[in-house]
Amino acid sequence: MKKIKNYINGQIVAYSDKTLDVFDPSKGEKISEVTISNDDDFLATIKSAKKAFYDWSQITPLKRSRIISKYKDLIEKNIDQLAQLISIEHGKTLDDARGSVIRGLEVVEFATGIPHLLKGEFSQNVGTDIDSWSIRQPIGVTVGITPFNFPAMVPMWMYPISIACGNSFILKPSEKDPSCGIKLAELFSEAGLPDGVFNVINGDKEIVNKLLNCEDVSSVSFVGSTPVAKYIYETSARNGKRVQALGGAKNHLVVMPDANMDQAVDGIMGAAYGSAGERCMAVSVAVAVGDIADNLVQKISDKAQSLKVAPWTDPSSEMGPVITKEHKDRIYSYIDNGVKEGAELILDGRNISIQGYENGNFIGPTLFDKVKSDMKIYKEEIFGPVLSVVRAKNYEEALDLVNNHAFGNGTSIYTFSHLALTLCKLCLFHLNYLDLLNIYNHLI
Ligand code: NAD
Repeated sequence: MKKIKNYINGQIVAYSDKTLDVFDPSKGEKISEVTISNDDDFLATIKSAKKAFYDWSQITPLKRSRIISKYKDLIEKNIDQLAQLISIEHGKTLDDARGSVIRGLEVVEFATGIPHLLKGEFSQNVGTDIDSWSIRQPIGVTVGITPFNFPAMVPMWMYPISIACGNSFILKPSEKDPSCGIKLAELFSEAGLPDGVFNVINGDKEIVNKLLNCEDVSSVSFVGSTPVAKYIYETSARNGKRVQALGGAKNHLVVMPDANMDQAVDGIMGAAYGSAGERCMAVSVAVAVGDIADNLVQKISDKAQSLKVAPWTDPSSEMGPVITKEHKDRIYSYIDNGVKEGAELILDGRNISIQGYENGNFIGPTLFDKVKSDMKIYKEEIFGPVLSVVRAKNYEEALDLVNNHAFGNGTSIYTFSHLALTLCKLCLFHLNYLDLLNIYNHLI
């Protein structure tokens, strides 16, 4: 059985014998074991990152950027292998997996501009005979703790910039799909990154706690669920570390009465059901404005039924399984709850069966209509292929829904013009919903 260890000081190594099982979500079968790191792994990782930091931080930004350029080339060369590693352990389609590596690669590309990005500022005469200047300096050993849903892209939001700035980095990937982190680190070494600058330590919350409480760690970046994000933020801040912690989400898509309905439904397919809904930016609520709701629901239902749900090994697959059996059960219980609370279940993705993959964690596209804002399926993040349609009388009512929701990560609005549609699609990724609504207001 394959054992996924750690990447410490440029070596694949594990001191701990303790492991957790890693599963193939398409079959529900164990495929490997991942190390649950102990104190020896932890101490070796910290020692390696601390030692490497000193030399790496002294290297000129230009030399650092050359290594990052080579790294970019290597990721491009190995993109198929990376995508496959993601699909095997996560279950998403190869297209989704490749796409996520490409998104991460954009950050690597951005980091190649580090000599320019690290420039400081100078102000003359801020007081009599006093000038003021600022410089950007590396801060030391930095840590990234990442979720299962993007095992390459989310770490790539963090370490390329941190390392380009002259820090060393310790990645603690999700224990559910840990292979990709090791491969990303190996490729960086191949590009010429000195040993110890990028380390990967596997494990669960115990290793996270050791990192959060370690005085040699200067900063922590976290992406994952909201309760854990709060815990990470509080603990790191209490320990005097710089910390950023991104949590869960619920994203609305507002469809105006004058929107091109077919374009809106096309957009909804990818946004709601892509990656089986396991995306922080997945659209999980469609707000139908005015009298279009019946038509919209019918069109979503027709199109969703034609989505091909299959394992990633099937090239025609459009939607894979969810990550674990436990997560599948959790999504089922949300669907049960939606029915109990009186939402209309138009499409029920439970009990889908795929020949040869009967034990896989598949859920078909699920659609609720007439969802109300006090229902659990509306209020909470489900993180699965479940879309709720909420009916709003007018634009103002739709806006209130968005503004009053506890989560406001992203909103897109489908409306009359193609320009607005394109802007809204772009904005989904780059702006928050207030910016979006401003753009919308300018267009009408
Ligand atoms: P998770 O919070 O369960 O796990 C994230 C990481 O934290 C993992 O590495 C895990 O090992 C660790 N962890 C888990 N429980 C812990 C605990 N009690 N103490 C310390 N560490 C702990 O999240 P997940 O299920 O892997 O990922 C899905 C979540 O991530 C969703 O809520 C999704 O919305 C969110 N997410 C958010 C963004 C964003 O940009 N805001 C992006 C991707 C995913």
